[in-house]
Amino acid sequence: MIEQSIKPISLLIDGQSVIGESGQTVMQIARDNGINIPSLCDSPKLDSFGSCRMCIVEVDGVRGVPSSCTTPARDGMEVLTQSERLSELRKGITELYYSEHPIDCLTDTRNCGCELHDVASDVGLRNIRYDNTPYHSETPIDTSSPFFSFDASKCIVCSRCIRACDDIQVTHALSLDGRGFLSRIIAGADESFFDSECVSCGACVDECPVDALQDNMHISAGNPDDWIRTTCAFCGVGCQFDAGVKDGKLVTMKPAHDSPVNQGHSCIKGRFASAYVHHEDRLTVPLARDSIDEEFREITWDEAYDIIADSWLKIISESGPDSIGAITSSRSTNELNYLGSKLMRAVIGTNNVDNCARVCHSATVKGMMTVFGAGAGTNSLGDIDVTDLLLVSGCNPIHGHPVTGSRIKRARKRGMGMIVADPKKTILAKMADIHLQLRPGTNVALYQGLSHIIIRDGLEANSEWMNSRTENLEPYKKMCSVMTPEVCSSITGVPIENLEAAAKMYATSSAAMSVHGLGMTEHSHGSEGVMALSSLALLTGNVGRPGTGINPLRGQNNVQGSCDMGALPNVYTNYQSVDNEVNRKLFSEIWGVETPSNSGLTYPEMLQTVGNQNGLRSLYMIGSDIAHTDPDNLAVKKALSNLDLLIVQDIFFCESAKFAHLVLPAASFLESDGTYTNGERRIQRIRKAIDSPGEAKEDWIIVAELAQRLGHDILAGPSPSEVWDELASLTPNFRGINYSRLESPEAVQWPAPSAGHPGTSVMHSEQFSRGLGHFAAPEYSEPNERPSDEFPFILVTGRNIYHYNSGTQTRRTGLAKFRDSDYLEMNYEDANSLSISNGDEVWLSSPRNRIKMIVQVGDSMRKGNLFTTFHFPDIGINSVLSSSADGYTFCPEYKVQAVSVERV
Ligand code: SF4
Repeated sequence: MIEQSIKPISLLIDGQSVIGESGQTVMQIARDNGINIPSLCDSPKLDSFGSCRMCIVEVDGVRGVPSSCTTPARDGMEVLTQSERLSELRKGITELYYSEHPIDCLTDTRNCGCELHDVASDVGLRNIRYDNTPYHSETPIDTSSPFFSFDASKCIVCSRCIRACDDIQVTHALSLDGRGFLSRIIAGADESFFDSECVSCGACVDECPVDALQDNMHISAGNPDDWIRTTCAFCGVGCQFDAGVKDGKLVTMKPAHDSPVNQGHSCIKGRFASAYVHHEDRLTVPLARDSIDEEFREITWDEAYDIIADSWLKIISESGPDSIGAITSSRSTNELNYLGSKLMRAVIGTNNVDNCARVCHSATVKGMMTVFGAGAGTNSLGDIDVTDLLLVSGCNPIHGHPVTGSRIKRARKRGMGMIVADPKKTILAKMADIHLQLRPGTNVALYQGLSHIIIRDGLEANSEWMNSRTENLEPYKKMCSVMTPEVCSSITGVPIENLEAAAKMYATSSAAMSVHGLGMTEHSHGSEGVMALSSLALLTGNVGRPGTGINPLRGQNNVQGSCDMGALPNVYTNYQSVDNEVNRKLFSEIWGVETPSNSGLTYPEMLQTVGNQNGLRSLYMIGSDIAHTDPDNLAVKKALSNLDLLIVQDIFFCESAKFAHLVLPAASFLESDGTYTNGERRIQRIRKAIDSPGEAKEDWIIVAELAQRLGHDILAGPSPSEVWDELASLTPNFRGINYSRLESPEAVQWPAPSAGHPGTSVMHSEQFSRGLGHFAAPEYSEPNERPSDEFPFILVTGRNIYHYNSGTQTRRTGLAKFRDSDYLEMNYEDANSLSISNGDEVWLSSPRNRIKMIVQVGDSMRKGNLFTTFHFPDIGINSVLSSSADGYTFCPEYKVQAVSVERV
């Protein structure tokens, strides 16, 4: 292929000298230089279309008036974007558009957001000469979506919505039907938006220039009077939004176009489901009761702090500080997680602090730490745009991380190779070159099997890489030598030819990148699985370069940050061990108290000690709901109900609050200041956009006030930025980061060890965090949970796009219209053998419990495997699951559960 080099070019536009690049259009260069050319069908996020004719310009030496959006710019070109002739032509075109657009728009004096109205104002059009009866004025408005509506009578058929769906979201849900005046936009096979395959990402709503597609919340509330930049509080992609606020209420969430994370895109949750913040169920006042058999009473904050302080001081004097523990939150800010850890360590005197990442990505931290010396994603989401091959392991980004899912689909369109390793036939698996549909729980065997083939065929990285960057190669080779394709295939169930093809494809790509999810971690050997995957990257030299690496897709918005902040029982910030005397001395000195030297307990361990002598007596839970989300949750509920004092801090009265003595009302992300760290280590701001309801307070403020009641001032200053500055001073990888650096749309990706350091988009490029990359050679072991005659099926659990984890927020929004229950997905063959039909109710049983579920029959799972989500506490799926967990990290084996199924 002949590569054309990009050269700077110079143009004269409206007499102004401007600079652009060869390959750009006149429209692009004008826009980049702040020169506005009217347009309706053009959008910076979409390829040029050239249909509306509104962006016509005059070019010296060129006949006619070409569209600037399709005219390539040339060096020395002279362009006029405004002239009497152009104005007259635009006026005529606008007039024609208004013959098919409601005429009241023309005289509307409100800023209605209609770009056609803006153009009419620019060209001075006040009346039209044509009949104004839009052809589709009788077409009913499509209000099937709970979030937006479509009024065909306003549509000017510019196709921006179709192109957004095709090129940004890549769902292809919209198309153009008919010709001429009859032409119209249709969803699916001419269905309502709700019934079509549209996933309500809202990209079409964002692109529509004439408000034919409109955000319902925006329609009813009107235009915002303030915009506040913030970060989505759902998943770990970390999309940036401008929250539109009016009269103290959220009116709309607009995805940020200048964010490298989401590039103006969003999923249904981020754009439309943040309105849960205004739900009437929000907790607004502290609640207390003496025993969990009593009703709650409303109390003041002062009373709440007194109850906690008195109770904790009594427990400490009777049983010692290790009888108290805290679970901070992967949903809350970095600053909260740091202060939560400081509260436990510096005020209570225990290392019993953990966070809810324990049950999702703790195995990633362990696995990657072992191989690379750092448990964080090695590369950036933008690397998906440049990699040659993506290995998608145990994750379903279309549902779990939808904006990244769309990014992967766009990369696939440009020709990126893709291998999907997943027991489920996901959408990406159907699009992949190779689907490795492995038996749940066999990740270690799969990745050692691929390594075996690569070593056998001499496809590993060269000896210079091995000698200068790695260690422990020979033991690793020895371990992989037993995982022949035959052995690997018999363990994983993946055909040998697929193993051979995948190994060759991964090893011979010039840059192969991996993204992984909880399908890698939530196993009894989750840490070993991540070690095997990371060692495969090491073996092929696919780490430390753009478009390579091991990249965990973090589930919750701040999984990365909550662990980085040291809300873990064995480490301070950025994984500095509490066992290390130097670290302990440093933290003790800055915090002004002696910190405990004994490691704390993970929270599953804490729960196991409830009721024991010197066991846990009080638990402070901030923004997590383990009574719903944890496996074997009947046992979890029993432990919670046996505590002397359970404090639940949340925005809603969640399942765990049912076992609490104290419930503290917290502020939502739109009511808080602070930072989150997304899955690519990018530290991004959230900003207070609205006030909290009632007496709800920001998480970090509650923790700081509680510490004060216990006689300790744990705040370095009055705002989260001072909290950040303190923790950054204690953490080499964060030292170069402060709030003013986070003002830019790119924010900063850690490590940024000094003020002038730009941040790090690709880690381990010169050296691994641990020095040499370590080939980890764990031996393959079968999952703890295995099928038996009594429980012959293996159940896998995961997420659905329309809900978020416990569903506490999403079930309280219009998302409930899309999905109102958890369903059991079963293979056709299994269903036939049990005489089960689609929609039948079944008993799903395990040794722990038996629950009723509705079956969805299909081909997404292999024979013998089942799948379900866990968003609805009434279904109680987690009561069926076992407490079996990863041996290193206690990350539960959510992805392999032996169950039986029978018709009700
Ligand atoms: Fe929010 Fe994740 Fe959706 Fe982005 S992909 S809008 S971060 S839920």
